[in-house]
Amino acid sequence: MFKNGKVRSPRPLLAVLELTSKCNLSCRHCSFFGLPRLQSRDMSFRQWKRIIDILVDNGCERVTLSGGEPTLYRRLPDIIAYCSRKGLYTAMTTNGIAMTRSLAAKLVEAGVDYVQVSLDGLMKQHETLRGSGTYEPALRALKFLSDAGARVCILCVISTLNDRSIPEFVAMLQSLNIRNIGFERLTPPVGSDRMMQIALRPARLKRALQTIYSLKKEYPEARISLNEPLKVHMDARIRQAIRGKRTPSGGCFAGGFACVISPNGDLRPCTRLPFNAGNLLKMNFNTIWNENDLLNALRNRRMWGPCGACRHRDICGGCRAEALSSYGDLFACDPGCWLQPKRRSNAKFKSAQIG
Ligand code: SF4
Ligand code: SF4
Repeated sequence: MFKNGKVRSPRPLLAVLELTSKCNLSCRHCSFFGLPRLQSRDMSFRQWKRIIDILVDNGCERVTLSGGEPTLYRRLPDIIAYCSRKGLYTAMTTNGIAMTRSLAAKLVEAGVDYVQVSLDGLMKQHETLRGSGTYEPALRALKFLSDAGARVCILCVISTLNDRSIPEFVAMLQSLNIRNIGFERLTPPVGSDRMMQIALRPARLKRALQTIYSLKKEYPEARISLNEPLKVHMDARIRQAIRGKRTPSGGCFAGGFACVISPNGDLRPCTRLPFNAGNLLKMNFNTIWNENDLLNALRNRRMWGPCGACRHRDICGGCRAEALSSYGDLFACDPGCWLQPKRRSNAKFKSAQIG
């Protein structure tokens, strides 16, 4: 990934398109509401086509349609069809609330490659974060989508609410014949003390990741994945594979091979980072992507403190969003890392004014 401390020719291989800021839930762990106020009107289908064209022209190969809640974007099937026509691998995320049999069929007909439904553990755990009455609709959405022929997966956010029942949760999904299961840790939105209290900290995060790795062995027919920079410490083969690659692939991808487009066309490094690098409807893509100081600092892993000095910096990098919410410093250490006993010394570092 790195050569002489510089990342080589990054391209936005993956783009998350936040089609709308509207949502039919107000989940307590949602990072979207920590962002600076976005325009309430969604971009038109024509404006999104323009942005998709720009991304494809600059090497994008996969998009994930997100929000807010993307099923509330009126022309969602048209966007999927357009992305498919452009040759993009097209995924979408949903909380499942607004899914119907008819919408599921339209999404499949439009060419969606897979649909990820959020399910944050067993019913009580899920509804603690997402509100009462949200669990059954998510399971129903999975059924509608599967019946329509969509490839589905679930994404589970892990926290102290659900980490100890991960095996029970995975067994329940197996009984429902849900084989594709993704996990990621809860990142507290900036300023949310309540969410900070349920975020997994080093010993518990390590245990949760070990549990997930052992479940991968227990259920070889399931596809259990982990969206987590620290997973490189779970398996030496992953570290080898990342080190051998010529393209950016390991650890935190903020500013590296992925970007996020906000509902108003702003380009951000990650869904959980509230930094706008420039607006794609107003500025040239290359100016934003290549010249923005924040993106360059992220992709070149210019951290300090324990992450900056760490030998795993290039293949891990820690979660920058976690560093930001815990220390108010984007380039401080990941507070979930169990490899750095002196991580608290981050407090003495001051955040640089970049971007
Ligand atoms: S110190 Fe930072 S880069 Fe090193 S292993 Fe921990 S999180 Fe990853
Ligand atoms: S900051 Fe990096 S590791 Fe954290 S959620 Fe964003 S891309 Fe993932």
